[in-house]
Amino acid sequence: MIIKSNQDEILNYLTDASNFQGECETLYIPENEEELILLVKSLYHSDKKFTISGAGTGLTGGRVPKGGVVISTEKLNKIIEINLQENFAIVQAGVYLSNFLSELKSIGYFYPPDPTEKNCFIGGTIANNASGAKTFKYGSTRNFVLELKIILPDGDTLQLKRGNYFAKDYHLNIKTDSDKEIQIEIPQINLPTTKNAAGYYLQPNMDAIDLFIGSEGTLGIISTAKLKIFPLPEKIISAVCFFENEIDAIKFIDEAREFSYRTRKEKLINKIDALALEFFDKYSLRFLQEDFPKISPSANGAVWFEQEANSSNEEILIEQWLKLIFKHNSSDEFVWFASNEKERKEIEEFRHAISWKVNEFISNKNLRKLGTDVAVPDCEMISFYNFLINKMKSSNLNYVLYGHLGNSHFHLNILPKDEYEYSEGKKIYKEICDKAIQLKGTISAEHGIGKIKREYLIDMFGVDIVNKMKEIKFKFDPKNLLNRGNIFLDDD
Ligand SMILES: Cc1cc2nc3c(=O)[nH]c(=O)nc-3n(C[C@H](O)[C@H](O)[C@H](O)COP(=O)(O)OP(=O)(O)OC[C@H]3O[C@@H](n4cnc5c(N)ncnc54)[C@H](O)[C@@H]3O)c2cc1C
Repeated sequence: MIIKSNQDEILNYLTDASNFQGECETLYIPENEEELILLVKSLYHSDKKFTISGAGTGLTGGRVPKGGVVISTEKLNKIIEINLQENFAIVQAGVYLSNFLSELKSIGYFYPPDPTEKNCFIGGTIANNASGAKTFKYGSTRNFVLELKIILPDGDTLQLKRGNYFAKDYHLNIKTDSDKEIQIEIPQINLPTTKNAAGYYLQPNMDAIDLFIGSEGTLGIISTAKLKIFPLPEKIISAVCFFENEIDAIKFIDEAREFSYRTRKEKLINKIDALALEFFDKYSLRFLQEDFPKISPSANGAVWFEQEANSSNEEILIEQWLKLIFKHNSSDEFVWFASNEKERKEIEEFRHAISWKVNEFISNKNLRKLGTDVAVPDCEMISFYNFLINKMKSSNLNYVLYGHLGNSHFHLNILPKDEYEYSEGKKIYKEICDKAIQLKGTISAEHGIGKIKREYLIDMFGVDIVNKMKEIKFKFDPKNLLNRGNIFLDDD
């Protein structure tokens, strides 16, 4: 076990990519699962608060400690097994997603969850139910988690296998490895139909494993996961198309989505079926222009789309995409097609760069991020887009708008110049969350609640439901020691 108490050495663990700041006494880095379990047991017996750290790419202060100690999972970094007969992999929580993806790629396989930032740990992605561009086709991390080993706050352990433990209506009984029974009452709530990372996943007759996925480390520590993997498709069509009018880009996404859903529903072959549909507004393009000369200077909006293909249908599919591009007032000269793996990587970097540059901007100003993570039902996407644009126009604040619009999921990032603009931006941020809630969407589709979105969770579900979620946390963590301050407001 590595133990560090010198604050200079711990500094990096006291923040995350949101620039939220915290403090702690000691950092523990267990070198294997046995050490982790012993550590947790001793912290529990001494009533010491402990926060779990992944790679620190989170955007809501989730891994940032408010006192107590930090446990980093970075040494639990082994890929234990990759099984190509049954298409699964078993990995420890501290494996970098980027390493896992490269390892799989080298043997012709892939794992669908692909948050834009891939330098995160598998444990962090499961704790946050992360999603990404490919979520449009594949759904979020939840869909690919087959089994979890969890270390509970008192050091007891829990093995959960998808399909083994279900709730009966609204009652969920969970048995730990030491035969302790934990009985949970599932509150009746309406989860949004959009993708969602706000609060616990709670449904009648739910699979117990789903309670832990997306629980932001508040119920237990994920130590090992068994994940579904897939053979790589033969080809991927990848392109960024530019539009002179931003709204054309939005309407292009709306129609490409409709085509894709029809293709899937009617099981059509050789038709548009997007893997990813990602949007960039004019300000995002201006932000990136210097680094990516392929951005057309007259472009005021762009869409990055991808589709899985093979050598026999690639041309047929490209023809259909071009037809759709023409229909929405763009042209083939306005498309940046990736014709090889290197160019595809370049497009991925272009997508990553916008998120990264926003974070850099905010850090340089020493402000906290004001980036929305809201999603709305698809039928509301265009009206919600108009709402956002009008709101920002009347504010006079700088912003960039991009996101996973295939899932009607908007990252509107307000770029305040100073503290005054930050506080003005915060008011708008709340209005945007309120609107998403009113439209039956979510305040967080992928980043989670952490320590910076807790009041919006109450706006979304109401105090009563949030208190019932908290009762569930107390069933697992009666002393309220683990990841304290995440999700629930009065925990600091
Ligand atoms: C540029 C950029 C782009 C991003 N794009 C996306 C995106 O497209 N989609 C998306 O979903 N997210 C995105 N994110 C957010 C972030 O990458 C994800 O939330 C990621 O899953 C966090 O993983 P991490 O290992 O860095 O976790 P951390 O930040 O270290 O921790 C996040 C939370 O998970 C908990 N946790 C970590 N490990 C464990 C464990 N083993 N057991 C229990 N709890 C644990 C922590 O306590 C904390 O609450 C982006 C971030 C950046 C900086």
